Amino acid sequence: MASCVSPSPKSPTAFSKGSTVRSRSHATKHGAIDPSNTSKQSSTSSLENSTLAYPHEIARNRIVFGHWWWIEHEPEPFHNGEGFLKELGKNQDDDDGWNKLTGSLGDLLRGGSNHILALNYPSRTGDRKWLVLHVLIPSIRGKKRDLNDREKRSLFNQATIAAIKVHGISPTVLQKRNEGVVDNSLVNQKKVVLIGLGALGSQVAELLVKAGISNFTLCDYDYLETGNVLRHVGGVHEFGATKTAVVEHRILEINPYVEVTRIDESAVKSLEFLRDLMASSDLVISTTADENVEMTINRIAILDQKTVLYGRSLRRGSIGRVFLVRPGKDPCMQCIAHYMEGKLAGEEYPTDLFLVWEEPGEVLFHECGNPVIAGSGMDLSFTATLTARVALDFLQGGIGKSNHWLWSRKTESDINERIKPYSTIVSTIPRREGCPTCEEPEIDAVLLSAEAEETIHEEVSKSVGVETGGILIGYVTETGQAVVLRATPPGTNATKSASIFRRDVVFVQSELDKAGDEWGDQGQYIGEWHCHLELEPKPSATDITSLVGISEAPNYHSRCPVMIIAGTEKETGEITGLFAWAFPPGGRVYPITLNSESKASGDSN
Ligand SMILES: [Zn+2]
Ligand SMILES: [Zn+2]
Repeated sequence: MASCVSPSPKSPTAFSKGSTVRSRSHATKHGAIDPSNTSKQSSTSSLENSTLAYPHEIARNRIVFGHWWWIEHEPEPFHNGEGFLKELGKNQDDDDGWNKLTGSLGDLLRGGSNHILALNYPSRTGDRKWLVLHVLIPSIRGKKRDLNDREKRSLFNQATIAAIKVHGISPTVLQKRNEGVVDNSLVNQKKVVLIGLGALGSQVAELLVKAGISNFTLCDYDYLETGNVLRHVGGVHEFGATKTAVVEHRILEINPYVEVTRIDESAVKSLEFLRDLMASSDLVISTTADENVEMTINRIAILDQKTVLYGRSLRRGSIGRVFLVRPGKDPCMQCIAHYMEGKLAGEEYPTDLFLVWEEPGEVLFHECGNPVIAGSGMDLSFTATLTARVALDFLQGGIGKSNHWLWSRKTESDINERIKPYSTIVSTIPRREGCPTCEEPEIDAVLLSAEAEETIHEEVSKSVGVETGGILIGYVTETGQAVVLRATPPGTNATKSASIFRRDVVFVQSELDKAGDEWGDQGQYIGEWHCHLELEPKPSATDITSLVGISEAPNYHSRCPVMIIAGTEKETGEITGLFAWAFPPGGRVYPITLNSESKASGDSN
């Protein structure tokens, strides 16, 4: 089981749990260090700017693991175990260092044992450094017996400690080799959400952290199996750990200053959950290769105007495909799906959007219900690099109009003659007209007349403690603004309670007919208004269902009804604000701008 958890630099605790760090071997190929030679090793008296060489005794041909701790001060010079514990326990209320040490090393702390330990501390220049130490616990003379905790500690106090090396890990040094290639000041501000951390997602994460991205949210509910390792950034020693933990560990090994948030759950466990997950992102990268998950991500992303990159590997990895969806700019995944269905039905189709079908019988077996298809890790890396490269270019603002990339290792003449070995076809696919997911609502703002606003205020003031409402009558301008000339009262047969409002259907129909006679084309049904007994109202599930129903009902003649909700103070009935939403076809809800005629004229005075 994986047990290595690297701390984040912003970790609130001063010390990490004991973590492992790779360091040079403390043993020669043929045996342990001769304790008599330890006096020749350098001491820790010069911690800063130390150029200590590795002691001759420490072989350089092996990687050994040791434990390290995150501390919040620069350690004072020390030469023995007692001094080490003092530094480890400094500024800690609950522990003088011993618990941290034994918690990580436990039974390994035996007489005569060697250890590589390290402290990660802030240096005077503002960077962090790793002080790597060689620790030798003295042998116990006389007869062997089990030591109690106090005896163990006093033995450790006498341990000989020598500094092996101080490793600087400043952010500048870490990014040095990207200088002039990546705009670090730009990309290190960006937040990337990765949904799916399998072979593709984990490699994309690794490439992006190397490019300087320093804020990741990792989302995957799965665990690393030994069978994943052939294509994953995780190793066999990490089996059983969550994929988010494995990828976080890998990320922090490359850059310990990176901020990582781990979500060990399905991204689509609920729409609200997915919404929160993507809310603060500059880019979402989905590598789940699950059509249903992608469609759900797509729906929320379009609604909340979030850019998503969909990376997928096809035909056992020999084809990689990437779609970039910037809402309002590129075709969404629903557009793509419609294009593909259209192509199968023989309809016109964008020339660059090749239909790639999988050969049947490629599924090896099912794991947790997901099909496992054999694919070369080497080929997958091409797709990972393509996905990461597109992500980086997008984050640096240099992607232009392209939104579709298809890489292939082989000729695939059954798909398209243009696909040649090692070719990447880059194209700009147009959006599909009439897409039920990404077509903008016909209405993006509503203008409330002074008369309509007055009616709303009047009706609300008459109904303290219960909801009230009515319908909106007016017209839609060519620029997509709904002009509400009149808001009707609810009618005498309306149902009004603290949480339910149902208008008087006969009454509002007569109001609509009257307006039609009075204003002609400008007296049409625009939508609904009602109040909520809350300060910042949002459409309830019932509100959404009823307005979506109206957008789809032919008898309303409204393809995009508007809903205005008045937020009210429960006790006084005072209106705290008016908010508007549009309901274009396809079951969507868009918040839209509400302009008020009375406010506009008030402002100009
Ligand atoms: Zn679309
Ligand atoms: Zn409501």
